[in-house]
Amino acid sequence: MHELSVTQHLLSVVLEHAEQAGAQRVTRIDLRIGALTGIVDESIQFYFDFVSRDTPAAGARLAFAHVPVRLRCRQCGAEFEPQERDWLCPDCSATGGEVVAGREFSVESIEVE
Ligand SMILES: [Zn+2]
Repeated sequence: MHELSVTQHLLSVVLEHAEQAGAQRVTRIDLRIGALTGIVDESIQFYFDFVSRDTPAAGARLAFAHVPVRLRCRQCGAEFEPQERDWLCPDCSATGGEVVAGREFSVESIEVE
């Protein structure tokens, strides 16, 4: 998994915001993670503790908001949250669809001191 590079990117975004805010320390980071990213909270926290050492973000608490997968049916345009392995449109039973949510990985907000 690409979680180390994802976490390094996350840290650089956070540090950039912290610097712009003139913050001494980052205390909390709110994240949105889509279900399709396959990203596991614990491993992000694990890598974060590692890469944030000796930065103003060391010791920050990560809070995760999980975004479910949403698809838009290519046949009828309906939007729906698919079941685990059953990506069938509930309206017309077409298979699959365009992913409209579930791939995001973003920093929602940070708290600083
Ligand atoms: Zn449909």
